[in-house]
Amino acid sequence: MVEHIWDQFLTIIKEEAGSRVVDTWFKAVNLDRWDPARKTVYLRAPNTFVCNWIRSNYTKLMQEHLSRLLSVNEIAIVIIDSQEKSDSVPMVTGSVSMHATPEHGATLPSTIIKSRTSMNKNYVFDTFVVGPSNSLAFAAAQAVTEQPGRLYNPLFIYGGSGLGKTHLMHAIGNSIRTQYNKYSVLYQPADRFVTEFISAIRFDKVHAFKSKYHTVDVLLIDDVHCISNKEQTQEAFFHIFNALYESHKQIIFSSDTFPQNIHGLAERLQSRLACGLVVDIQIPPLETQVAILKKKAFLHDALLPDDVAHFIASLELTNIRELEGALIRVLAFSSLTKQPLTISLAQKVLDRVTERRPVMVDFSQITQLIHKQYSFSLDQLKSTDRSKKLAHARHIAIYLMKNMTDRSFRDIGNYLGGRDHSTILHAYNKIKQAINDNAMLSNQIKRMKGDILR
Ligand code: ADP
Ligand code: MG
Repeated sequence: MVEHIWDQFLTIIKEEAGSRVVDTWFKAVNLDRWDPARKTVYLRAPNTFVCNWIRSNYTKLMQEHLSRLLSVNEIAIVIIDSQEKSDSVPMVTGSVSMHATPEHGATLPSTIIKSRTSMNKNYVFDTFVVGPSNSLAFAAAQAVTEQPGRLYNPLFIYGGSGLGKTHLMHAIGNSIRTQYNKYSVLYQPADRFVTEFISAIRFDKVHAFKSKYHTVDVLLIDDVHCISNKEQTQEAFFHIFNALYESHKQIIFSSDTFPQNIHGLAERLQSRLACGLVVDIQIPPLETQVAILKKKAFLHDALLPDDVAHFIASLELTNIRELEGALIRVLAFSSLTKQPLTISLAQKVLDRVTERRPVMVDFSQITQLIHKQYSFSLDQLKSTDRSKKLAHARHIAIYLMKNMTDRSFRDIGNYLGGRDHSTILHAYNKIKQAINDNAMLSNQIKRMKGDILR
């Protein structure tokens, strides 16, 4: 049951702090145990760096939500550092903070250089469901593990968020580690690479930083689009890449879009990323989603009836992560209340999910408003013309289409002249970010939404 609590917690944090925070920090942390007598939650972090970071940034947030989920006031949180020797004192955080923690500046650089992100043992090929939307990526990932560095180098996997890229990356890493135990495999999310590089500069450890990467046999860089607009990091990365590539070391990347579409990435790096095999992952069709749900339920020791699996898949959630979130809620509810897994139970639990979905709006209502506002016709929006004003209007249209309908990026791409789903995703994220940075645009979008709903 405690597992479900942690899963629920992750879902909440994702909504509150964003999926980046969850992917970067909380995914790597496990809920080790819950001690009701001491009102203490024990968390396990993979290394000192994550341990310190979570402790100093997310203590309040964890206390607030875990207290609520466990229905206990004022819980204490102990974060156990998996890298630390077992006889050392765990760090205590929260209301009963008893032990002093090491100076941040004193411990940071060395742990950063040493840190090896551990592989998630659940993300293996066996637990990955293959269907038409991901079969090429899956086959390429398996091929790479058979002859690392020989066949497809680099391997570049791209696709929307929550579609299984990180799962496949870990599966590659896990498989290579089991087959070739002498190989040094390094999995690193790109944003971690960036932070690490920045601290290396700050603490004068660039040499150690570079040699850490030069000695690996297999390098997996997840979400490589995160190094866009980070010129110095790109420079360092370029050299690391070349050195590994020339000595036939396997390199694998994942990204939310294909290399040429990662904006703010040096051209020479773009072409390096694309010089091996580039494969994509799409949103799986209904049958694959049903198979994934059944597999996930099985991994949680639950038997999910076909009709319930179909029901959850038919909600057309935007990605597998959300699909899994919905499943976890249903499983948790059924086991907490000891009710059988039925459609009506799922309906009840997921009511909120369906309720929160945006009001249904037609694509045509949006393109009409774009026409009124910017005088661009639907044909112009569909065209390949990328002149500045037209591209901007197109981006706004894409944002509104995603935000105000429940249609997928792929649907929007098809509607707008057959554009690739990652192009659409990129435009959507661009406007989403711009809204955050720019109050005028934010107001304008609000007005447009009001107009459409009127
Ligand atoms: P991404 O890195 O593309 O954002 P993840 O790899 O984190 O996505 O996947 C999100 C969740 O969906 C994970 O729990 C993963 O196990 C699951 N998932 C995605 N695709 C599949 C699949 N084909 N089979 C089984 N699980 C999947
Ligand atoms: Mg990922």
